[in-house]
Amino acid sequence: MAQEALDRVAALTQLSEDEQILRDSVLEFAERRMRPHVREMDEHAKMPRDLIADLFALGVMGIEIPESYGGSGASFFHAVLAVEALSQVDPSVGVMVDVQNTLVINALIRWASEAQKAQYLPALASRTLGAYALSESGAGSDAFALTARAVASGDGYAITGRKLWITNGNEADLFIVFANVNPQAGYRGITAFLVERGFPGFTVGKKEDKMGIRASSTCELIFEDCQVPAGHVLGEVGKGYKVAIETLNEGRIGIGAQMIGLAQGALDHAVAYVKERRQFGKPIAEFQGVQFQLARAATELEAARLLVYNAARLRDAGRPFLKEAAMCKLYSSEAAEHVSSIAVQLFGGYGFVKDYPVEKLYRDAKIGEIYEGTSNMQLGTIAKQLLG
Ligand SMILES: Cc1cc2nc3c(=O)[nH]c(=O)nc-3n(C[C@H](O)[C@H](O)[C@H](O)COP(=O)(O)OP(=O)(O)OC[C@H]3O[C@@H](n4cnc5c(N)ncnc54)[C@H](O)[C@@H]3O)c2cc1C
Repeated sequence: MAQEALDRVAALTQLSEDEQILRDSVLEFAERRMRPHVREMDEHAKMPRDLIADLFALGVMGIEIPESYGGSGASFFHAVLAVEALSQVDPSVGVMVDVQNTLVINALIRWASEAQKAQYLPALASRTLGAYALSESGAGSDAFALTARAVASGDGYAITGRKLWITNGNEADLFIVFANVNPQAGYRGITAFLVERGFPGFTVGKKEDKMGIRASSTCELIFEDCQVPAGHVLGEVGKGYKVAIETLNEGRIGIGAQMIGLAQGALDHAVAYVKERRQFGKPIAEFQGVQFQLARAATELEAARLLVYNAARLRDAGRPFLKEAAMCKLYSSEAAEHVSSIAVQLFGGYGFVKDYPVEKLYRDAKIGEIYEGTSNMQLGTIAKQLLG
């Protein structure tokens, strides 16, 4: 291979100048602006409004939105870097920003009409938080079994049904809602709608009291004859299943980013702690048993990061990435759970109490194996790709 061609093949973790700048600035923000509030946000299960406003000011709420609509005009990989850096300090903030970028904005950029883009993209880049409402109480892994119904009404549709587990539900003002216009047609009746908070017949219901990522709101949404104008159909009527599949295929790379950020945060805490903590007259970092646990954790994290970055870079290159995205979500969520468990272990009793940060990261890690497709669903996707 010619030297010039070789030079172009960078290591996956080698960042361009603007990628490096973004990551550093988001990390600096996370340490300065978020770190002091992480414990309180977790305890009170609260996402402060002023923090959301500051994230908009930082420029991480509309990363892929073109500059002509007021966004950053950057890549999917940039969004992955931002989610990773935020999750290093607080995975709750990481997932809020992830849903905004990799699900909501992603779906609008791909499927919205020009009029819808002009109406919503500038708002999403500057002040409006979005949410993505697919799941229902009886439709989780089998998402297309959803029963929310949309019937023609006036110049648009009336939606009736309930959505469950909706991230950002408490703070969002724009919701992508999936409902079926023709249940006889099965999944081919599923349609995506742009629903604003305040539309008549739409209310945000109970907020869940969760084990982890407690500051990230997870809410029920209730639609009672909710009136939605015809111009608020996102994509085509009956093509909502495509909107869902395509955005979720990409969104799970964002969850991979959340998980590697979390694992990095846990590993950093553990490395600092073992150098300080003394037993048997020396820092516990000097015991080979401790060193080996850290080395294993660092290796798992590195492998997970390579999977996440590769999937994101394939997506930006317009190459197939379905299997790689499923692998990165599967592996990074397992790695995050294991790395945060090792961190708790190395803190000993101090790892088990809330005065130290690793207890929270351990609780936060579990969700990675559940949302945006459980680990079994990722294994199913990978197996299908393998077997053809
Ligand atoms: C904190 C949180 C935030 C969320 N945010 C959102 C959101 O913003 N928007 C949204 O739409 N949804 C959201 N969800 C929903 C989430 O995507 C679902 O919980 C998830 O897809 C799993 O669905 P379920 O809970 O119904 O579990 P189920 O589908 O009932 O699964 C239960 C178990 O059965 C296994 N299982 C199911 N089917 C199979 C099969 N065919 N083969 C093998 N194993 C199987 C699963 O792997 C799992 O272990 C969120 C959930 C949580 C907890």
